[in-house]
Amino acid sequence: MVKAIVGANWGDEGKGKITDMLASDSDMVVRFQGGANAGHTIINEYGKFALHQLPSGIFSANTVNIIGHGVALDIHKFIDELNTVLERNVPAPRLYVSERTQVIMPYHPLFDTLEERRLSDRSFGSTKSGIAPFYSDKYAKIGFQVAELFDDDLLRSRLANVLTIKNVLLEHLYHVEPLKLDDVYAEMIVQRGLIRPYVADVSNLIREAVRANKKILLEGQLGSLKDPDHGIYPFTTSSSTLAGFGTIGAGVPANSIQEVICVTKAYSSAVGAGAFVSEIFGEEANELRNRGGDAGEYGATTGRPRRMGWFDCVAARYGCAVQGATEAALTALDVLGYLDTIKLCVGYEIDGVVTRDFPVTPRLNRAKPVWREMKGWKCDIRGIRRYADLPAEAKAYVEFIESEIGVPIRKISNGPRREEIILR
Ligand code: GDP
Repeated sequence: MVKAIVGANWGDEGKGKITDMLASDSDMVVRFQGGANAGHTIINEYGKFALHQLPSGIFSANTVNIIGHGVALDIHKFIDELNTVLERNVPAPRLYVSERTQVIMPYHPLFDTLEERRLSDRSFGSTKSGIAPFYSDKYAKIGFQVAELFDDDLLRSRLANVLTIKNVLLEHLYHVEPLKLDDVYAEMIVQRGLIRPYVADVSNLIREAVRANKKILLEGQLGSLKDPDHGIYPFTTSSSTLAGFGTIGAGVPANSIQEVICVTKAYSSAVGAGAFVSEIFGEEANELRNRGGDAGEYGATTGRPRRMGWFDCVAARYGCAVQGATEAALTALDVLGYLDTIKLCVGYEIDGVVTRDFPVTPRLNRAKPVWREMKGWKCDIRGIRRYADLPAEAKAYVEFIESEIGVPIRKISNGPRREEIILR
């Protein structure tokens, strides 16, 4: 039985918490896309953690955690994060990396940084973790699978070929020093030593778990609108953020994904460049940013202030639809308790015409929000455990969003902690 947890929006929807909640009840948690460029914030009995590379199931001793083939693996970040977790008394997790997972090479973050610098004010707002250069190389067939690090001749000869290409760009496009084969090779030998204990034939492990009807959780990173095909291209990420990509990035059979839980936040936030129709600015945004999340809406990886906005029904409906959501989880409802009235974006006005359909980027860039206002509940709803006990205005807000997105909201998160959840 395979379940996916994915984001309906731009990421940072609070997936980490919901995943952590469900992970303890799962036999296996698999990351299937993305890299260490985004982070989940998890608060549990061991403390508060920002996970970037590790699966969220690492806190439960019974759960097998897997880095699937679709992930961009940064070996140093993987090891550092693991050490941080172990230092804080979390028992050593059961953790495997697919031998087919590709590795962030030392030059990927370098190229990411140099390209953002070259683009200057046209930059994408990349976290400079090397994700875009990594996936470009993967699909250009000049990437490296973990397994290849263990074949000396293959590694050296492929590396020599790749560096020929990289060095032309470094010298003549970016005007910096070229890379030396011996240096990069030596570094990859160090990295393979670090990752060796975790490498496994993950394909087989996962297929066996599916056959044995184990509870498997696919853990998504970012959200629908950052998907390279379905999102706000080119202001997207470089790997698919959709549950369906689990069939590729984790290798589960296409017909095995039975539940898709789409996480959406009671207001909007986004990082990086690109159109964000329900965005708000100034004091209104500052107040929401500082009250948002568990300690304000600042990037879990970069510490950058997130762009803020009100709930966007158009984007969330589309986000749930492309995920094939079977249910939704609405997070951070508690954050909105300070507002007299709450705005929601219910349509996009483009060239004088209002639409409820999420448009392609050139049209999206011209979209203006159509607002609806609802009455706020003006109280603290943290601590409430039953839906019936929520104030009437909060229930009306949840039910309005539910009718707009067309997916049942079965979980409502009303605080950052694991137990702060209302099941419906
Ligand atoms: P993810 O990338 O989707 O996992 O999102 P994050 O980990 O960045 O989560 C966003 C922030 O919201 C984090 O600081 C979480 O601790 C916090 N958070 C999650 N659920 C809730 C909630 O229901 N209420 C509040 N106030 N914060 C929440």
